Amino acid sequence: MSEFLNISEIYGSYVFGDKEMRERLPRAIYKSLKRSMITGEELDLVVADATAAAMKEWAISKGATHFTHWFQPLTGTTAEKHDSFISPQSDGTVIMELRGKELIKGEPDASSFPSGGIRATFEARGYTVWDITSPAFLYDSGDTKTLCIPTAFCSYTGEALDKKTPLLRSMEAVSKQALRIVRLFGDTQAQRVISSVGAEQEYFIVDRETYLKRKDLIFTGRTLFGAMPPKGQEMEDHYFGAIKERVSDYMRDLDVELWKLGIPAKTEHNEAAPAQHELAPIYSTTNVATDENMLIMNVMKKVALRRGLVCLLHEKPFAGVNGSGKHNNWSLCTDTGRNLLEPGKNPQKNDLFLLMLAAMMKAVDEHAGLLRMSAAVPGNDHRLGGGEAPPAVISMFLGDQLTAIVEHIIAGNEETVPTDSKMKVGVSTLPVIRRDATDRNRTSPFAFTGNKFEFRMTPSSGCIADANTVLNTIAADVLGAFADELEGAENFEETLHALIRREMSAHQRIIFNGNGYTDEWLGEAARRGLPNIKGMVDAIPELVKRGSVELFERHGVYTEKELIARADVSYEIYAKTINIEALTMIDMAGKDILPAVIRFATELAQGVKSVEDVGLDAGVQRELLTRVTVLLKQASAALADLREKQAKASVLTGEAQARAYYETVCPAMEVLRAPVDHLEMIVSSDVWPMPSYGDLLFNV
Ligand code: ADP
Ligand code: MG
Repeated sequence: MSEFLNISEIYGSYVFGDKEMRERLPRAIYKSLKRSMITGEELDLVVADATAAAMKEWAISKGATHFTHWFQPLTGTTAEKHDSFISPQSDGTVIMELRGKELIKGEPDASSFPSGGIRATFEARGYTVWDITSPAFLYDSGDTKTLCIPTAFCSYTGEALDKKTPLLRSMEAVSKQALRIVRLFGDTQAQRVISSVGAEQEYFIVDRETYLKRKDLIFTGRTLFGAMPPKGQEMEDHYFGAIKERVSDYMRDLDVELWKLGIPAKTEHNEAAPAQHELAPIYSTTNVATDENMLIMNVMKKVALRRGLVCLLHEKPFAGVNGSGKHNNWSLCTDTGRNLLEPGKNPQKNDLFLLMLAAMMKAVDEHAGLLRMSAAVPGNDHRLGGGEAPPAVISMFLGDQLTAIVEHIIAGNEETVPTDSKMKVGVSTLPVIRRDATDRNRTSPFAFTGNKFEFRMTPSSGCIADANTVLNTIAADVLGAFADELEGAENFEETLHALIRREMSAHQRIIFNGNGYTDEWLGEAARRGLPNIKGMVDAIPELVKRGSVELFERHGVYTEKELIARADVSYEIYAKTINIEALTMIDMAGKDILPAVIRFATELAQGVKSVEDVGLDAGVQRELLTRVTVLLKQASAALADLREKQAKASVLTGEAQARAYYETVCPAMEVLRAPVDHLEMIVSSDVWPMPSYGDLLFNV
């Protein structure tokens, strides 16, 4: 790649964005399209046809041959249905076309995507509908370039079959309720309140050749066996000195690919674990940020392969090594550019900010279970509470200064809270309350970081739509209730102050600024009555609790039927994931590991015999042989037990099945892993049938 990339030339060159639309569309069409983007009005067919034609011309000029409706099914990944632009004519020739109808609506075979029973397989019809607020883009894969049209995916009867539809609905809900609040504070200009998101993405990079020798990584995305290498995270400083060229090259490729897609990303080295890195994009509207994050994950994997590398997005690819998450930075801004979470120079006197703060305290405290559920994927069960990511208990970090302000308000103390001199940066554009950079801040699942909240539980492999749908909806709900109370107030100021004080007092328990990794905190959290939902299977019921159903229905985000379907799909995803993991373990242990250990033990035994035959002491060999034999026996018994438990769980269905995997299969997997990892440490490395953690983590 040339050293002198013309970034301004490549940036956004794969996106059919505003610039392309303005240049390529007739003025009236362009204006009409823009209006629909803002108001959500349906596109008329004339506009759709003209847009489709321009989009097609643009895509073909860039070498595209296919188009696809691109969507986010409930699997948490992305899906596409490819069609070629080529349209055969009756005279036997072909023309290249994309019609307005095809742009705005598609009909993939919905039966191959999970729906949680919403759409029986015989009623396979599902529709994808263009999300005009997220730009179409080109995706390069091998020799084909495809025009991807971001869409929402729903059933014939209008139920959401994807993650985007509820997200869009939640964005509308929060806009509507937050706008009422903004109006109460005299803002007559704003037309919408936009939820913005910037998702920092963590990932691991490993060598592909090494990866291909690990069935567990190939089939499950994480290692199911593996002893800790002699060198772990404690040597991180040394590791930094030796960042390999391959990784820097990869990061540069990745940046360039993302820049083409108009995604303003900056890759960085992460200090947490060897082979682990982080990418931070610049924030954007929630649905666009979600689409971008899905693309980022795709591109990360694709670009890695080009360099003989593999990108691991699993939450916990290596036991004992820091896992990966996504830091979901979230805020609410008016369309006129005012961030409602901006504390300003004097937060204590900033009533709108204090009201927003009280609202978020209430929302997070009352809906902690839903937030936990929004971050639930099987992989996160290994990460949350592991002393490296936030614990499974939701709490809110506000930092010393804001916490003092909250305490003053609750106590009715009118004194001014002293500001830390370090916090005064003397530049008016910088927020006065700066992000607290200390370690303890990193342990908080929900931290205020200057002018946004950072939700840190979000899983690295998952789709951020879930978390943001919940965040938007719980914010909408509380803001709506506040607006009800304030709109009817005789004395606005008095009612406002009483409300802020009342809600801050009622939800003070959610604030915690200390170290979330300690057992003391878990004890304290239990005393405060904060839920501690450790696993995904226990989090799923949060979706269908009476209160959740009412909450989501109140704001038109999910119907009860959709929630039940999502719970069903979640149980299914959990069961399938653990089933694959269990089967992979059974395969690896039964076919590769135990046979290798048996060979090793046999050789040892023969060695003992030969040594003793010549009249020498084979005590050392004997002792090793005994240890190997004991562990082999344990492993073999554990393997049989895992087989049995897997077989039992596999015939169940629904919640009972997910529970069986969680409560019986997962522990059996742990029991098998222990002696195997032990064996890995004492068996000679040339007989061990796969690369070690050391090979994977330090071989890039
Ligand atoms: P921090 O220092 O708190 O990590 P950064 O400036 O590095 O903050 O931003 C972290 C992420 O948060 C980035 O992806 C950034 O785009 C995003 N972000 C910044 N401001 C906002 C905001 N107002 N709303 C949502 N995301 C934001
Ligand atoms: Mg961060």
